[in-house]
Amino acid sequence: MLLAGTLVADSTTVIEDGAVVTIEDEIVFVGPHHEATERYPDHERRAFDIVAPGLVGAHIHSVQSLGRGIADDEELLDWLFDHVLPMEAEMDAEAMSVAATLGYLECIESGTTTVIDHLTVTHAEQAFEAAGSVGIRGVLGKVLMDTDSPDGLLEETEAGLRESERLIEKYHGAFDDRIRYAVTPRFAVTCTEDCLRGARDLADQYEGVRLHTHASENESECERVREKTGKENIEWLHEVGLTGPDVVLAHCIWTNEHERDLLAETDTNVVHCPSANMKLASGVAPIDEYRERGITVALGNDGPPCNNTLDAFTEMRQASLLAKVDALEPTALPARNVFEMATTNGAQAAGFDRVGKLEPGWKADVIGLSTESSRATPVHDPLSHLVFAAHGDDVEFTMVDGRVVYDQGHTTVDAPAIRARARELATQY
Ligand SMILES: [Zn+2]
Repeated sequence: MLLAGTLVADSTTVIEDGAVVTIEDEIVFVGPHHEATERYPDHERRAFDIVAPGLVGAHIHSVQSLGRGIADDEELLDWLFDHVLPMEAEMDAEAMSVAATLGYLECIESGTTTVIDHLTVTHAEQAFEAAGSVGIRGVLGKVLMDTDSPDGLLEETEAGLRESERLIEKYHGAFDDRIRYAVTPRFAVTCTEDCLRGARDLADQYEGVRLHTHASENESECERVREKTGKENIEWLHEVGLTGPDVVLAHCIWTNEHERDLLAETDTNVVHCPSANMKLASGVAPIDEYRERGITVALGNDGPPCNNTLDAFTEMRQASLLAKVDALEPTALPARNVFEMATTNGAQAAGFDRVGKLEPGWKADVIGLSTESSRATPVHDPLSHLVFAAHGDDVEFTMVDGRVVYDQGHTTVDAPAIRARARELATQY
C-alpha cells in the first residue's frame, strides 16, 4: 500500500508531500511522494493529511474498560480496593472479552498500534483472543495476586504461575508474533516474595517474555511495601529480580536517589502515565531526571477508570505540560522527546524491534490523520501538532503489521455490537 501525506517519520524527521510504501508486514520506502509513485505505480494508494508511525501505549488496562467513570475523585488505594478490584473480581469470561475488545478498539481507533497490557487474574485468555481479533500488537499478561487481595482475585502462588506458564506456551509469539507475553505481578503490595521471585524465574525460561508491574505510584503504597519488607519499593523489586532491560515498571513517582541509581544501572524501563497520576493525585514522576540518567521512559494511559481515555495524543500533551509546570520551565520535555516516548521508547520497553518509526525495513505500523477541522488549522509544525493539538478522533486509518485494522470507522470486529454489549454489561459495576 502507498500512503501519501506529510510524513512525521520519527521525532526529528518531517517530509512534506511524502509517501510510505508497505509490502506485507514491512515498510519498504519512505520519501518523496513523486518518487514513491514512480517506483510503485501499481500499489493501492491512500492519501492523508499526516502520516505517522503508530503510537505505543506502554501501560494500559484494557479489561478495566467497563469501569470508565466508576471511581472519579478517589485516592489510589481506595480507588483500587473499593472500586476497581471488586469490578475485576466480578467479571466473567464474556465481560472480560467485551472489555478487552472495547479497550483495543479504542486504541486502534485513536492511533495506538502497540500496547503493554496489564490484564487481571481471571479469564486472561479472553484478552489474548480479543487482541488477535482486533489486530493490535501487544505484550499482554495475566495478573498475579497471592496476598492481601480480595476474594475472587486472591490466588495460590503456584496456581498463578502455572496459569501464566500455560498462557506463555499458548500465546507468546501468537498471531504472527504480534502478541507476546509479560509475566505481570499486580504490585509488591499484593504479591509475596515467592510470587515475585517466581515471576522472574518464569520469565527467564522463555526468550522474549517481559516482566510488567506497577511500582511507587503512591506514597501509601510505598509505606505498605516498607512495612512488609523493610525496604523501599524499587530496592525490594531489585532484590527479588524485578529490575532489568526486560522489566517494565509503571509510574516510579516516589523514588529516592538510590532507587533511581538502580533503575539506571539495570536499564529498567519506566512508563510515565501523567493523566492517571494527576487524576489520582499520586504525584509527578521525575521524567526529565530519568531521561538525563539514560533510563528509557515510555508513555501509557493506564486504565479507563483512572484517565478516563486510552487516547495516546491526550497523554503526549499531558506529559509535556506536566513536565513544564512541575519544573516551572517551558523548555522541559519538548514535543520531540514526548513523541519518542510514545513511539520508539514504548517499542523498546515492549521488546519489539523495528517498531515506532517510519523507516524502510521497519514494521508496517502506520496511522493516517486528518487536519480538516478548525482545531487543526493551521499546522505550522506537524510534530508539534501531533503532540499539542491532535486528538485520537483525528485518526482516520490504522495499519498494524501491514494489515488495515481501522479505516474511517471500519474495524475487523463488529464495533457497534461490542459497544452496545459493553453498555449493557457496565450497568452492574
Ligand atoms: Zn496501571
